[in-house]
Parts: sequence; structure tokens; C-alpha cells
Amino acid sequence: MANIKNISILGATGTIGVNTLDVIARHPNKFKVFALTANTNIDKLYEQCIAYKPHYAVMVDENSAEQLQQQLSKINSDTIVLSGADNLDFIASHAETDYVMAAIVGAAGLLPNLAAAKAGKRVMLANKESLVMSGKLFMDAIHEHKAELLPIDSEHNAILQCMPDANNKVNIEKILLTASGGPFRTWEANQLSSVTPDQAVAHPNWEMGKKISVDSATMMNKGLEVIEACWLFDVDVDMIQVVIHPQSTIHSMVSYNDGSVLAQLGNPDMRTPIAYALGWPERIVSGVNQLDIFDVARLDFEQPDFTHYPCLRLAYEAHTQGGNATIALNAANEIAVEAFLREQILFTDIPKLIEDVLKDASSGTPEILEDILIQDKLSREHSNLWLAKNTKNNKRQFIS
Ligand code: NAD
Ligand code: MG
Repeated sequence: MANIKNISILGATGTIGVNTLDVIARHPNKFKVFALTANTNIDKLYEQCIAYKPHYAVMVDENSAEQLQQQLSKINSDTIVLSGADNLDFIASHAETDYVMAAIVGAAGLLPNLAAAKAGKRVMLANKESLVMSGKLFMDAIHEHKAELLPIDSEHNAILQCMPDANNKVNIEKILLTASGGPFRTWEANQLSSVTPDQAVAHPNWEMGKKISVDSATMMNKGLEVIEACWLFDVDVDMIQVVIHPQSTIHSMVSYNDGSVLAQLGNPDMRTPIAYALGWPERIVSGVNQLDIFDVARLDFEQPDFTHYPCLRLAYEAHTQGGNATIALNAANEIAVEAFLREQILFTDIPKLIEDVLKDASSGTPEILEDILIQDKLSREHSNLWLAKNTKNNKRQFIS
């Protein structure tokens, strides 16, 4: 039993968190849940505490933590309930945590992910936003503290699987990053302003949280993933080709100088990359059904069109501009997506807001955490000013 790994899940109540628990439950002799965290979802975290009996449960929201504590006391649970964002860092770097699933959505994941890296943990990274914000700092922390970094994003996990010698990239010609193209791939440009939040969160192939679903529809998700891939695999952006592949069967490919292209295929189910990261360097059962290749029958590929997906263009531009711009890109996108989800702006306003905020981002890449947080704050303020200027009474009444 000495080999059982203690897992802490940041963002346990989200789609990735729930899928992680599903895989862990299949391997009681390999993994134990040490800590679970959530923002405000008391009911789900309560259920998870009963099922997995973690040592700690952290709720960032104080009132939610109090309510969870009361509910767990009633059933004499041994789980210790903590509150506040600082306690995310505490469990991410706790001596008894072996592996950290980094599955908080958005910039809120940055500090605990860094804490896990600095504590030399195995970091299973789903939270791409934190890498987009702090690529250099985060990768330096991983290397300096000999942490293990395993990507959970299905594309990056696929790329890793297609790199049998991940330390030797001299023979790689291109990384082919696949994208479904989202639910509006075949829509005419003039129809896009009518997209509703419900339509945008209904992804054709994957079950995901709301924010990443909207990001997939705008293809900002792919833009963030291009930046993520540059940092994770230490490659130039020119090495990465985005390929629209509507079936989402190939999760990405790596093209080599001898003419070989390695691809990783599978049903679109996040339990595959999660199991790969948990089991690495071995493969373990994930619960995902085998891919029926006859059922797939055909695979299509298309070049992405920047005019149809302006967010993808903005991500490339931000990456070329530098670290401050990618922080601005991420901050503006988070604010824009939230505003779209509460019907304050149109789907087509999302890139307009981001483009405006990007114009103001300084060039260069911040070297220290404080500077990252300052750029993030400034870009959020700029985004909120844009919203105040271009909408009335918090309603979707776009002025310009
Ligand atoms: P989700 O919205 O379903 O879950 C988000 C989790 O983060 C929840 O547990 C929530 O409680 C927690 N959270 C939200 N705000 C927080 C805050 N301010 N502080 C602390 N915790 C907070 O999201 P998801 O779809 O599971 O995605 C999580 C991350 O994984 C995102 O960064 C996403 O881009 C990435 N990702 C997701 C998928 C997927 O298939 N869902 C695939 C690849 C990458
Ligand atoms: Mg992905």
C-alpha cells in the first residue's frame, strides 16, 4: 500500500474534477483522494466528500465553507473544511500531496498551480489560462523544483503521446493541433451576432464547463492552446499548425522529418488524458470505450479562417507581442465571456472587447509574479470600462 499516491484536485466540482474522480475510483490500490476544492458548489463538494472521504475540503467562498462544515458535522465526517484562496496553495503544496490536478477555470488557478510547481509535485495541468498568463515563470518553477508537468488538455496530452522522446525535438517538423471548429463552424458570418449563450455552450463533441465551451465556439480556446503548446513543448509558434478536424477523433499530431506523422486517436472523453497523466509512465484503465474505427469511417481536415475566428488571430498576435499581451488576452477574454454568458454583450462583441484591451497592453514579458498580477488587474479594469462604455444598464444594447 506504500505506493498509493495522494491526489489533490483543484476544481473538483467541475467537469475535469468529476472525470478525475471517476478515473481515481477505478484504482483504489493506486490513488487516494487527499484534498478536494471548489469555489461555491456546496452540494457537489458535499457529495464528493461523502464518496471519497478526503482529508481536506477547501471552499474559496467563506460562507460556502461554513455551510459545508455544518453539513459534514451532522454526519460526523472526518474531512477538515478550510476556506479562502490561500488554502488552495496550502493543499497544492502540502507535504502529503503527491499529485495535483490543476482544474480550476481561469486566472484563479495561477497561484495554486505555481505553489504545486514550487513544491515539486506532479502537476496535471488542465488550467491552460494560468500557463498563458505566466508561461515563463511557471515553466521555470517546474524545472527549478523538479516538478513533473503532465498536460491534461486533450491536444497537448496527445502531442506528448506522439513524442516518444519528448526531450529531443530536433526531428520534429510540425505540431498539428486539432480543433473541432465549434458549433458555428458552418454558420455564415452575418449569423454569428445572433448566437445565444445556450447555443454557444452546447459543444458538438465534448462535455465541458461553460467558459471553455464558449472559448471553443470562438476558437479562443485554440488560441490559448497554441500559446500553451509553445510553453509546454518549448517550441516556436511557427512550429504549430492549427487544423480543423470536426470529428474530434484525432486529438493532435506530430509530423517528423522522415515523413512520419504520429497521431493519437480516441473517443472524445477527458478520462483518457486524465488516466494518462495519473498513470504515467504506465497506462491505466480510464473507463473510456474503445474507439470503433469503422464507426468513425471518415476524418476531415480544414484550414482555420481567421476572419471567421478573429479570437484565434488575436491569440497569435498577442503571443507575438509578448507576455503582457497574453495576460491581457486572457483577462479580457474572461471578462468578455462572462459578459456574454449574462447576455450583456453579443457573441461577436467578444473579439471586439479583447482587441481593444490588447491595444493597451505593454510589450515585453513580466519576469515576476507581481508584474503578472498588475497586468492582469489593469486589463480587467480596461475590459470593464469597455463594457461600461459600450453597453447600457447591463443590457445587451451595443452602442457602437
Ligand atoms: P468547470 O467550470 O466545469 O469547473 C471549474 C472548477 O473551478 C469548479 O470546481 C469551480 O468550483 C472551480 N472554480 C471556479 N472559479 C474558481 C475560483 N475563483 N477559485 C477557485 N476555484 C474556482 O470547468 P472545466 O470545464 O472543468 O475546466 C477546468 C479547466 O480545465 C479550465 O481551465 C479549462 O480550460 C480546462 N480544460 C477543460 C477541459 C474540459 O473538457 N472540460 C478540457 C481541457 C482543458
Ligand atoms: Mg483542448
